[in-house]
This record gives sequence, structure tokens and C-alpha cells, in this order.
Amino acid sequence: MNAARFDRQLALLGVEGQSRLRAAKVAVVGAGGTGSVVVPELALLGVGHIIIIDHDAVEESNRNRHFCARHDDAIPGTAKVDIARRTVNEFDPSITVEVIPESLLSVAAFQAVRSADYVFGCVDLEGVRLVLLELCMAFSKPYFDIATGVEAGPPPMYGGRVCCSLPGGGCLSCLGELDAAEAGRDLESSEQRRDREAIYGVNRAALGAHGPSVVSINAVVASLAVTEFMKLCTGLSAPTRLLKYDGGMSRVSPRRDAPAADCYYCKGIAGAGADASSDRFIKCNV
Ligand SMILES: [Zn+2]
Repeated sequence: MNAARFDRQLALLGVEGQSRLRAAKVAVVGAGGTGSVVVPELALLGVGHIIIIDHDAVEESNRNRHFCARHDDAIPGTAKVDIARRTVNEFDPSITVEVIPESLLSVAAFQAVRSADYVFGCVDLEGVRLVLLELCMAFSKPYFDIATGVEAGPPPMYGGRVCCSLPGGGCLSCLGELDAAEAGRDLESSEQRRDREAIYGVNRAALGAHGPSVVSINAVVASLAVTEFMKLCTGLSAPTRLLKYDGGMSRVSPRRDAPAADCYYCKGIAGAGADASSDRFIKCNV
């Protein structure tokens, strides 16, 4: 370990804690608004192995909040995973970086998540959250899920939350932070979607809709998640299961509810591994 490099944080984390960060393999799913904060922070903290999963390319409208994008990165033509890797390499070339330029619902991404010690979800689709939760609980990976929300109002509402799902110890689902109905719509096949829309009509408001997204709000929530990860990884203290950030009220509120006794993810499939059959999601269209 380069003790001089980490001199200012060793007093808090200790040599053992810093060594745990260096030994950790962390997967970050989504390298957009929040993922582009998480990845550099993990690198600066001293995480030794980072896996970045994202199949998107940078768009001009990402430039207001993407920490890894430079003004001269070509648009179109710049993969988010590549500029995230570049940022890590520029901070510390000794860090091992793997990139998976594919959807989470791919063989390569599933293998990468299963190989990690910790997983961050920096995504905005509820269906992807559900799959990540199942995969992480089945393979006993602590899962840090990040969500931000901005509504122009009136009145304007803005903030987000971090949910730390620990195998057998409380999760997105039993903390009420997973919209199963929306996740189901995200994960349906094209045939199922066509049939549903034939009956209920097309939700045009949801087609191509993008809500507001603001750099400072993303960074607050992403940094809260990285801090909870740091607490768990180094042994500093137990992470808080749910942190809610209300930007308008300038408040972060913790929740420490016990896991639900009958939670499918915390009890039903926790540690089940391949028996949870999570590979069935690889065929979905998200
Ligand atoms: Zn649960």
C-alpha cells in the first residue's frame, strides 16, 4: 500500500481498512449521472478492482452532469464505460478496471456481477433494479442501490435515496423501495408489451421521457452510497439500510427497519446461488 497517498484517510480507516479497500472487487452497474460519481470516488478511496457495466454512449445532454466526460469527447461515439475507465486510470493506473459495454441482462454482465464482492446499482429502470437485487441476494453480494428524483413542481421536489441491501439483512423490496409492477413492465417481452398495449393502450408519457437530472443532487446521493460502502468494506461501522435525501429540506434521514420476516429476497433466495435461476432474466429486452 502507498501509505503516503492515503495518509489523510488512514487515521479514520486504519491500515486494515485501507487494505480491505485495496482487496475489494466492486461492480458498478450504470456509468451515467450517479455512476460517473461512484466510479471516481471508489478509485480515490483506494478500491483495487472496479468493474464498470453500461451499454450506453455519451449524449450531449449528459454533459451537464457526467464527471468523466471531457468537452472534446466525440458525440456520437464515446462509450460511457471507456471514459469511466479512463478516469480511473488517470487517478491511479495500478487499479484493475474491467469494462462490460453491454446491458446488465447479458451473460457477460451477470458473470461480472457474480464475480464482484460488492455491487452498486446506478440505474434508472426499476426492472434492472429488480434483477440486480435478485442476483445480489442469491449470490450474497451487498448491493447499494442509488436513486435520484427531481420534479420541477410546483413545488419543486428534489433529492434521492440510497438503499443498502445486505444478504438476509433487509433489502430494496422489504424496505418498500422497489416498484414491482413497474419492474414487471420493464422486463416484459416485446410480445407481452404488445399484448398489454393492445388492451390498455400505449403509455405515451413514458415513451422516451427523461426527468430532470442535476449534477449536485446526483453527487450528494452517490457520495452517500460510497460512504455506506466504505463503512461496510473497512469495518468502520454497519451501513444504514436506507438513507433518504430531501434537497428542499436540506435533510438526510436514516431508516434502520429490520428485514421483513417473509421477504422473498432476504429469506427466500438469499444465498441460493444458481438455484434462484436468475439467468432467466438474460432473455429480457431491457
Ligand atoms: Zn428484503
